[in-house]
Amino acid sequence: MTRLENLAEKIAAENLDAIVISKPENVHYFSGFRGDSTVLLIGKNFRRLITDSRYTDQAKLQTKDFELVEQSDGLIKKLAEEIKNCGAKIVGFEGRAVTFAEYTRLKENLSGVELKSVEVDSLRQIKDAAEIANIRRACEIGDRAFAEVLNFIRAGVSEIEVAAALENFMRRFGSEKTAFDTIVASGIRGSLPHGVASDKVIASGEFVTLDFGAKFNGYCSDMTRTVCVGRASDKQCEIYDAVLSAQVYGLEVIKVGVSGKFVDGAVRERLNRAGYGKYFTHALGHSLGLEIHEDPRLSRLSTCESLAAGMIVTDEPGVYIAGVGGLRIEDTVLITDDGAETLTNAPKNLLEL
Ligand code: ZN
Ligand code: ZN
Repeated sequence: MTRLENLAEKIAAENLDAIVISKPENVHYFSGFRGDSTVLLIGKNFRRLITDSRYTDQAKLQTKDFELVEQSDGLIKKLAEEIKNCGAKIVGFEGRAVTFAEYTRLKENLSGVELKSVEVDSLRQIKDAAEIANIRRACEIGDRAFAEVLNFIRAGVSEIEVAAALENFMRRFGSEKTAFDTIVASGIRGSLPHGVASDKVIASGEFVTLDFGAKFNGYCSDMTRTVCVGRASDKQCEIYDAVLSAQVYGLEVIKVGVSGKFVDGAVRERLNRAGYGKYFTHALGHSLGLEIHEDPRLSRLSTCESLAAGMIVTDEPGVYIAGVGGLRIEDTVLITDDGAETLTNAPKNLLEL
């Protein structure tokens, strides 16, 4: 089924006359249009894209199957007019993406119309071939940038300089922008799971954790590698091996039919047995696509009962010891009927630079 056919099923299942799609990633997904300040109004036999003059030409190029409506007096006002014109009485909207002020304004302009919050992000959980190709490409960009930045990481260079070099390489290899704020966490900062690059200068003997992603045609990649500047100590090698073995085990456990909770628990148990479970303080992984963090999650709280072919998730165990440091290793993984296919292929053995 196509994306719009899946959405039509959702509209029918929710007993809606029409639905308003306003989250930019979902506007992109259902229409192909990649801009902001734009909404889709979709009913059983009409599809309209409402935008302003800045985007009309772009919308003509990027979308098909949508009637373009240009507004100049305010998006919500025009949207309300279009809803009234189409005669819809029950209209779905993305409650998680609309602000309270926008909702109130829309409600004021739509007496007699019932507005119902619905969730459509879940329609993006299973990626189609075009999406997989885009994510694969974003992952390749990340792999190439990582190989290049290894020549740049050394004692005396700051984390921000490393992040700048990494981001520059990703751009040169075709990334539209970073998928999220680049994490470069060295030495003691390695105990911060989300240690966005700082002005800290990297010293010899330190682990450096790099967590970064490219974007290609709007699709994200996500990879973490940890390297050592100079020789790693025996203790560093022990922790690295524990995390790597848990991460590789994750690739075996991630498969069609198992739950998000099960995968997280299995990898956590691996780290427990190595004596490091208590230092693994976050979820094992998340899905990604047009957004860097999507459902289903691989976590203790995951509501996903059964992973399916075509889902793309991360496998990212880590160990974080406050006051000492830490590390994480992360791959982006495509779930197939044959198991987990790793899309990020940069080396994972401990690199001593
Ligand atoms: Zn990451
Ligand atoms: Zn991640």
